[in-house]
Amino acid sequence: MNLIFLGAPGAGKGTQAEIVCDKLGIPAISTGNMLREAVKNGTPAGLAAKECMEKGDLVPDDVVIGILKDRIAQDDCKNGFILDGFPRTVEQAEALDKMGVSIDKVIEISVPDQKIISRLSGRRVCEGCGASYHLDFKPTKVEGVCDSCGAKVVQRVDDKPETVLSRLETYREKTAPLKDYYQNKGKLVTVNGQEEIAETSKLTLAAIEG
Ligand code: ADP
Ligand code: ZN
Repeated sequence: MNLIFLGAPGAGKGTQAEIVCDKLGIPAISTGNMLREAVKNGTPAGLAAKECMEKGDLVPDDVVIGILKDRIAQDDCKNGFILDGFPRTVEQAEALDKMGVSIDKVIEISVPDQKIISRLSGRRVCEGCGASYHLDFKPTKVEGVCDSCGAKVVQRVDDKPETVLSRLETYREKTAPLKDYYQNKGKLVTVNGQEEIAETSKLTLAAIEG
């Protein structure tokens, strides 16, 4: 089962991908997490990505497509995967088609803009494993410490309010057209992103199975 999770930044794609991948036994692949890792390790892709990411712009298609292609060629992707944060442009979606990857479903998690802004301001991520938390909706058990790996939990530079607005704009301009792209292929299912994480998971799983 090859799935794509689509939605604005902060809609909850990553959170749902982490939950659903456990249930389905397939890996969740987050290009955002892979790029942050590349930046941390100072790889060539990381060097190319750093500045764009800090400004809330998209990283160039060729960089992201390269990373994604290597990742889905790995053994654990044999039975399927969930893509979180990819594709983010029509060019990326076309690249996926050209790789011969067939997508079973595209789950769009839909959340109004006003909610997005408050969600992102409270978001925290683990520096170690990339797990994501929220001060109100999904707090860590111990303040500032990751539940799963014990590393420090911090605010992402691109979750500052100035950057959030430009990320939403980028989403509207570059990524939202993918809804039509997949709607036309009959693959799009839209789920309302609820306040309760578990509620959204139920709706998401129902959309995948239905
Ligand atoms: P969010 O979904 O909350 O915006 P991500 O962690 O998915 O956050 O992505 C963070 C940043 O990484 C993006 O703002 C962008 O700069 C970069 N990025 C991630 N995935 C892609 C992609 N598929 N194409 C281009 N840039 C990407
Ligand atoms: Zn962690």
